[in-house]
Formats: sequence, C-alpha cells, structure tokens
Amino acid sequence: MSLEAAYDASNIFARIVRGELPAVKVFEDDLAIAFMDIFPQSRGHTLVIPKKSTAANLLDEDPSTLQALIVRVQRIAHAVAKALKPAGVRIAQFNGAPAGQTVFHLHFHIIPVYEGAKLAPHAGGKSDPAELEAIAAEIRAALS
Ligand code: 5GP
Repeated sequence: MSLEAAYDASNIFARIVRGELPAVKVFEDDLAIAFMDIFPQSRGHTLVIPKKSTAANLLDEDPSTLQALIVRVQRIAHAVAKALKPAGVRIAQFNGAPAGQTVFHLHFHIIPVYEGAKLAPHAGGKSDPAELEAIAAEIRAALS
C-alpha cells in the first residue's frame, strides 16, 4: 500500500537539508540530520530526517534508507535518554495529513516523556531558541 503522496522539494525539512532554513542540529552524517523540533511536545523533542530522500512519508521510503535511518533514530534516542533522563521516550511517525502529518518529508519524532508531565499538543507553541540550543548541547554531548 502507498499513500502516493507527491514530494514537494520546497517543504520545510528539505529546505533545512539544503541549508536554506536554520535548525538547531544535534547530529548529522551523510544519511540523516537530527534537530530540535521548534514546537516541542516536551523538553528535548527531536526530529530525525533522511537527507537525500524524496519520500513524503514512511510508506514511500526505500527499505535500505529506512533501515539505516531507524538505526540513527535509536542512536539519538539513546543520547536523548542519557542527556535528559526522561522516564520514557516516545518514537512517533505520521503518514498523511489525516494521520497528523504536517511536514511532508519523512521524519521520526523522538519525544522524551517525563514522570507526571503531560505532553504539549502536537506542533503547538513555539519554544525559546536559546533554550533549544542549550538542550541540543546536552544531547550532542551525550552523542559524543
Ligand atoms: P508532523 O506533524 O509532520 O509529524 O511533524 C512535523 C513537526 O515539525 C512538528 O512536530 C512541528 O512542530 C515541527 N516543525 C514545523 N516547522 C518546523 C520548523 O520550521 N523547524 C523545526 N525544527 N521544526 C518544525
């Protein structure tokens, strides 16, 4: 099954990959970038995206890229857990607008979940850039 979503190369994440828009990055290699979500659902909400992909969602991605990407997701989730010490980590991924997708370049959410704290709404309030940078520095330190 495919959602057959047309890929629009002007989407926000493609523009981040090309360096046309800024992002607070925690990781980058030839396959993927991980950066802070600017409307975080919790402290440390991180997104992981493939760099060369033209897949709007998981259903459209080629399996080898997907395999390599999920290994990055696991590695960054480990770093988020080590740095921020949440009680749990939610990995989320949406396919198609009716499923909650708002940016149509494949991405995984890494969302730390803290004891007793409710998650903020999906793509809700914008965060403070300085605070995002400080959190990213903690995650980068845990990755190295
Ligand atoms: P989706 O709804 O497609 O699963 O997730 C898209 C995510 O991208 C949302 O969590 C939203 O907060 C985040 N987002 C939207 N615009 C930007 C942006 O310009 N920069 C960053 N870093 N995140 C964004």
